Amino acid sequence: MVTDSTEILRALVGLKSVRVLRYERRVKEVDLVIELMIGDVACPVCGGPTRVKERPLVRYVDLPVYGQPMRLGWRKHRMVCVDLDCSGGSFVVQDHRIAAKNCLLTTRAAKWATRQVGGGRTVSEVANELACDWHTINDVVTLYGAALLAADKKRLTRTTAIGLDETRFVRLTGENTSYATTVADVDHHQIIDILPTRRFTDVARFLNSQSENWKQRIRYGALDMSNTYAAVYTVILPRAAQVVDSFHVVSLANKTLDQVRRRVQQQQTGHRGRRDDPLYRIRRVLLTGEEHLSETATQRLESLLQLGDPNMEVALAYRVKERLRDFYRETNPVTARAILTDLYEHCTRPAMPPEIRKLARTLNKWFDKICNYHLARISNGPTEALNNLIKRIKRIGFGFRNFDNYRIRALLYAGKPNWRILNSIVVQ
Ligand SMILES: [Zn+2]
Repeated sequence: MVTDSTEILRALVGLKSVRVLRYERRVKEVDLVIELMIGDVACPVCGGPTRVKERPLVRYVDLPVYGQPMRLGWRKHRMVCVDLDCSGGSFVVQDHRIAAKNCLLTTRAAKWATRQVGGGRTVSEVANELACDWHTINDVVTLYGAALLAADKKRLTRTTAIGLDETRFVRLTGENTSYATTVADVDHHQIIDILPTRRFTDVARFLNSQSENWKQRIRYGALDMSNTYAAVYTVILPRAAQVVDSFHVVSLANKTLDQVRRRVQQQQTGHRGRRDDPLYRIRRVLLTGEEHLSETATQRLESLLQLGDPNMEVALAYRVKERLRDFYRETNPVTARAILTDLYEHCTRPAMPPEIRKLARTLNKWFDKICNYHLARISNGPTEALNNLIKRIKRIGFGFRNFDNYRIRALLYAGKPNWRILNSIVVQ
């Protein structure tokens, strides 16, 4: 039963060649049934005339109307060639403006859902708003997201500094964690791509397959302290200066501090950390930047260290971590290099706890690439931790069965695609 004027309903559909057959507001949803006004349809095989064989009604999830979920029923035309000898068989008249073939959402709802999920909303939220299944939305976002990313040719034309980072990819099934490599534009805070591997050959092949122009433009390659990624840069982008990401260096110092604390704690108390152990009580304070501690917190830290750390090993590791942070705060590259040299020499002394000496060996191995942080800073290179960007996608990196889905979701969310292109995307 048509309750509104035909013109309003036509506006609702937004297409001229569409006729509204029925419109009904139900308790939970709005139901609209349309058909295409078709002229003569030629047989795709012989080009001769066809006749209507069937009028199947196919329902699609559409955009909500007046705040209510909408279902669009499309009474289609299944045509058959009038020539009985023709091998054409029957076919359904499609129109991608209404809905793509095999898609359960109308085209406009599909694009809207893609934009929403790309903006950071969860698939469940969007599925809930459109009153449909999680998989329905996930499939459509993957389909349209992939089409958008393929069409967006200019996404990476301004990149001059990239970062490689290992990202864990946890599958929904839970039994296996695999590793992926995130390739990021560290200047523009944009994910370039995610590769389902961390192997040298795969990562090198990916970078090598980029255009010569693109490769020539890359001035900096940021990395964690990974031999594989360093080798990839050396081989594929030999002119790019390699910069160890600051986050990973400070993390390593924090990890060293934690290892020292746990060992000393075990030696002093004979057991693993318990609530009342002095070192266990300050485990978080130790990892906090010194400048963030209140006077009370500093005093508490000192007195608990006196109690639990008689040989001052934890205190040493704490100072090392803070000195490394000084290195990053220093703005003069020459002074910074001197700080790191002194720190290395301090840490490598035989009297130092073994954990700290191990840290010293790592600092020494990556010395120049760690110092390049300051080189990058004076020439507007990448200095903000790559990790800040990676963290964004880590949040959505869980619970995917399928790597390709994860990749598309991450690229829509953190790859900065040109969303205006989505309007003109055609999925047949
Ligand atoms: Zn025919």
